[in-house]
Amino acid sequence: MISALRPSRFMPPGHNRIDVSFEFFPPKDEAMEKTLWESVTRLAPLNPDFVSVTYGAGGTTRERTHATVKRILNETSLTPAAHLTCVSATRDEIDGIVRQYHEVGVRHIVALRGDPAGGAGTKYTAHPGGYATSAELVAGIKRISPNFDVSVSAYPERHPDSPTVDADIDMLKAKVDAGATRAITQFFFENDLYFRYLDRVRARGIDIPVIPGILPVQNFKAATNFAARAGASVPAWLAERFHGLDDDPATRKLIAAAVAAEQALDLLDRGVTSFHFYTMNRADLVYAICHLLGLRPSVQQAA
Ligand code: FAD
Repeated sequence: MISALRPSRFMPPGHNRIDVSFEFFPPKDEAMEKTLWESVTRLAPLNPDFVSVTYGAGGTTRERTHATVKRILNETSLTPAAHLTCVSATRDEIDGIVRQYHEVGVRHIVALRGDPAGGAGTKYTAHPGGYATSAELVAGIKRISPNFDVSVSAYPERHPDSPTVDADIDMLKAKVDAGATRAITQFFFENDLYFRYLDRVRARGIDIPVIPGILPVQNFKAATNFAARAGASVPAWLAERFHGLDDDPATRKLIAAAVAAEQALDLLDRGVTSFHFYTMNRADLVYAICHLLGLRPSVQQAA
């Protein structure tokens, strides 16, 4: 029943549930592994649509991404999605990774071009024997098995490499034409940016779900650095909210929760029913926002 979720909030006709997905990064050491698994275990009972595991720049986390995805597959009832990029690898190497995922039962890949080997902001050069673009990668994955569900990125504020938003949307269209069935956006803090972008995407005839990526700001300084590299804007009002709290982690945490809740609930009010959370491997804030969105744990999905 729609009314069981949030009677005072708008829900589009035909929707009676909220879908969420959670993004994690592969841990570097034992302590980080422990934090990751505590977070996965905490969030699993919310029954996410899928949980995704990032692929480090230039394939640097290749083995760790595999290991994390396999552990999710083997030890939980969650559906893992493995991120994969085109950077610094031949087609054969990438195809080998995709086949390996298929063999162990992974059926969802988040296909990306990836950042240049020299780091975000440097010029991107495709590997001579590799996939030249993310759209080619999507097509390559679908060739290996049409059963793969392939998600791709989308940029409400334009990817820094893209001359215009329209050029970015052309790339999104190429990815959809190659077989992508879902786009996940870069994070943003002004919801109007997302809705304006969505209008342009729909006007271009792209009808796949474009799921907003939400970054709960656990650490304002880190989020600002991250945003600068990703081409996401940080509004002055957000900086103002965190101003003066550098030495006050308890208040910072409350502000972070309030900011993320405000954003997510506004999206919900405006008809959004699917959310992707950049968890940064931490569960508490994300869990609280999901609770606000109306999600409740179900025991059978526990890790
Ligand atoms: P695309 O959508 O393929 O391209 C983005 C824009 O750049 C397009 O508009 C295109 O026109 C333009 N462009 C592409 N290639 C060129 C070129 N050669 N010259 C000029 N313009 C070009 N990165 C990781 O390393 N690992 C991850 O796991 C990861 N996960 C991500 C998940 C999400 C949901 C998002 C939004 C991003 C993620 N990224 C990840 C970041 C991403 O790899 C970078 O933003 C990268 O720079 C672009 O890859 P893409 O597939 O998003 O780009």
